[in-house]
Amino acid sequence: MVYELTEEQKIILSQVEEFSKKNIEPIAKTIDADDHVPKELYRKMQDYGLLTMTIPESYGGLGLPMFVYSKILEIVAKYSGGLALSLEAHNSLGLGHVFLFASEYLKKMVIDYTIENAVPVAWALTEPTSGSDAKNMNTSYKKIGNIYKINGEKIFITHGVSSKYIVIMAKGDNGINAFLVDGESPGLERTKIKDKLGVRGSDTGELVFNDVEVPEENLIGNPGEGFRQAMKILEGGRIAIAGIALGLAEASLNLSIEYSKERVAFGNTISQYEGIQFYLADMATNIQAARHLIEHAAELYDKNLPVRKEASMAKYLASQVAMDSARIAIQIHGGYGYFRDFGIDKYLRDAKLMEIGEGTNEVQKIIIAKELLK
Ligand SMILES: Cc1cc2nc3c(=O)[nH]c(=O)nc-3n(C[C@H](O)[C@H](O)[C@H](O)COP(=O)(O)OP(=O)(O)OC[C@H]3O[C@@H](n4cnc5c(N)ncnc54)[C@H](O)[C@@H]3O)c2cc1C
Repeated sequence: MVYELTEEQKIILSQVEEFSKKNIEPIAKTIDADDHVPKELYRKMQDYGLLTMTIPESYGGLGLPMFVYSKILEIVAKYSGGLALSLEAHNSLGLGHVFLFASEYLKKMVIDYTIENAVPVAWALTEPTSGSDAKNMNTSYKKIGNIYKINGEKIFITHGVSSKYIVIMAKGDNGINAFLVDGESPGLERTKIKDKLGVRGSDTGELVFNDVEVPEENLIGNPGEGFRQAMKILEGGRIAIAGIALGLAEASLNLSIEYSKERVAFGNTISQYEGIQFYLADMATNIQAARHLIEHAAELYDKNLPVRKEASMAKYLASQVAMDSARIAIQIHGGYGYFRDFGIDKYLRDAKLMEIGEGTNEVQKIIIAKELLK
């Protein structure tokens, strides 16, 4: 299968490249240093439709398929891994969950709010005592009349603090349900988790629910469907995370090519030494392999075909390639690569999250093996 980008999609990708160069590159270091994305940048991104890029045009979105969306994340990640993660967590997880499974009433409410206010949606599955083993969650719901009361704690939630709307999974009489929660609900405490290693700028929060009341119409889909919905959402999220990882790997390669052609040692630029050339060749080959896996998974996803194994493979390989590429890029830059001023360290710090988020790489291998052995 070979997916051909339409002329319109090619134009969108070049506009995102241009947008990123103009609006993200100049402040990428500040986003990383301050672990904060200015509100105006979200507004500018939404002026290009980036916060509703996978939502159909009939709802006011750009209606882009996974194939193009993952390439947009790849472009943004070259400039800011934190911003790319923010876009991913919003589009694939928070807003994506609402769009795929919620009632028309909730969909319209959240999409319209996003278009108007350019504020990302959060998605909360992970808890302090259950991450990979997410089914083992403690956050609970209890139905009393026509409201649900939520109690419990969620951790490491992207946009946990800055969001207006949060999709949360909780356990109760009907099994695991997904709910749309208003971030300003009484009884909900939200705290920013500080000192994150990478993907800085994407705010990461801890949420504590003390008898938070949620109206019954904010149940997403049917009772007991929450976990199955979350697993489906993560499939798409893995392809998107792989797209970010690819962008980080490419940035590491590009910087390495540039630097190796400038740096002189023993009378030659280091690019003339086979040891360095082999590094570049390995990086480029692995990047291309990851790209093929991502494109293949994205095509299956867009055709609504089974993609569980392929999404995990794409995420597993691309995140490893991102880590390896960043590590080698630092090596090629020698001592300069070790200092923050040069900016190579950011790719290593950002890449590490790609091996953890949307299910760790150990979890991806469990999924791949399960699919092989079923
Ligand atoms: C910056 C950041 C943003 C995040 N954003 C979100 C978000 O928006 N929403 C959300 O819900 N979550 C989010 N997360 C949470 C993330 O998805 C979890 O951290 C991840 O799923 C791992 O869970 P854990 O941290 O509890 O690790 P654990 O599950 O405790 O795993 C610890 C280690 O044990 C390994 N392990 C666990 N089980 C097995 C097994 N059966 N076999 C082999 N090895 C195993 C893991 O691979 C890992 O290496 C975010 C995390 C970070 C760091």
